[in-house]
Amino acid sequence: MKHISGKDINLGFALVVLSSITLVAGAFRWPLFIFSAILLVSYIVLDRKKLRCPNCGGFENLERLMYAKKHVFYCRHCGERINVL
Ligand SMILES: [Zn+2]
Repeated sequence: MKHISGKDINLGFALVVLSSITLVAGAFRWPLFIFSAILLVSYIVLDRKKLRCPNCGGFENLERLMYAKKHVFYCRHCGERINVL
């Protein structure tokens, strides 16, 4: 059955959080901006490859995917159920 991996959602969330932290820290130590950019790009790649509706490829934001981990969740683009495993 088609599904989105819960691990990928956690990873995406971690990347966003780390990217935000390094961005703020970059105000004090500028090389951290580079890490922030790398983390952000990693997240974008992960998002494009893994964090999409498996049926139609539609974009879902991270908050909705976190919600989908614990609730029954339907894609707002195609209406198919998205399973998070
Ligand atoms: Zn869909």
